[in-house]
Amino acid sequence: MKLTFVGCGDAFGSGGRFNTCFHVAATGTNFLIDCGASSLIAMKRLGIDRNAIDTILITHFHGDHFGGVPFFVLDAQFFSKRTKPLTIVGPEGLQAAYERTVEATFEGASKTRQKFDIDFIEISPDAPQRVGDIAVTCARVRHGPVDGPFLAYRIEVENRTIAYTGDTEWVDELVAIGRDADLFIAESYFFDKRVPLHLDLKTLEEKLPLIKPRRVILTHMNDDMLNKLSEIQHETASDGLVVEL
Ligand SMILES: [Zn+2]
Ligand SMILES: [Zn+2]
Repeated sequence: MKLTFVGCGDAFGSGGRFNTCFHVAATGTNFLIDCGASSLIAMKRLGIDRNAIDTILITHFHGDHFGGVPFFVLDAQFFSKRTKPLTIVGPEGLQAAYERTVEATFEGASKTRQKFDIDFIEISPDAPQRVGDIAVTCARVRHGPVDGPFLAYRIEVENRTIAYTGDTEWVDELVAIGRDADLFIAESYFFDKRVPLHLDLKTLEEKLPLIKPRRVILTHMNDDMLNKLSEIQHETASDGLVVEL
């Protein structure tokens, strides 16, 4: 299967990178992990078939991870002419957040009846979900002044495990999320500056021996990280990077 970093940027366009969106094309299913505000543009640039996408998994409702969903749905309605159902998976409050975001971007559009069904699955850490061909486990992470909802995901599909921290400071739950994963995509917002609510590379490096993923790729880097890419020993994401799993 193939994972494409459609976008690996932060909320502020650091390095000219698109907002967070990873596209996974497996044999039996295609899905997105996050769909930030710029993701439809980035998908079109890469020629990704949006109608082949069955599911969109959302880590949290910040615009750089969720803000692209209204654009995706409107494009599906009017341009890609989608007919098959779309499943959106995310934290508690997903459907209300979707309606709010659609109304904020395209007033009145939340009342539009699509030519395809949208199923919302609100996922919680104590109830792993099977969504079509994928098994999804999540953990609550810490990324806001309130308690969330912010999630990290562990996704099992066709004998491969993909884990993603989402945006978060270090929380011990990330060990189980990433343990022995074939691919662990980790936020690495700063190089060594420890700030609340985001992960830095030094902290991540201290924890990686506990997680033991088979492969690590750093994402969601700010300018501090992007200016040090030549010093970094780990793989780093770039927009359009394709990983075979
Ligand atoms: Zn973000
Ligand atoms: Zn965020």
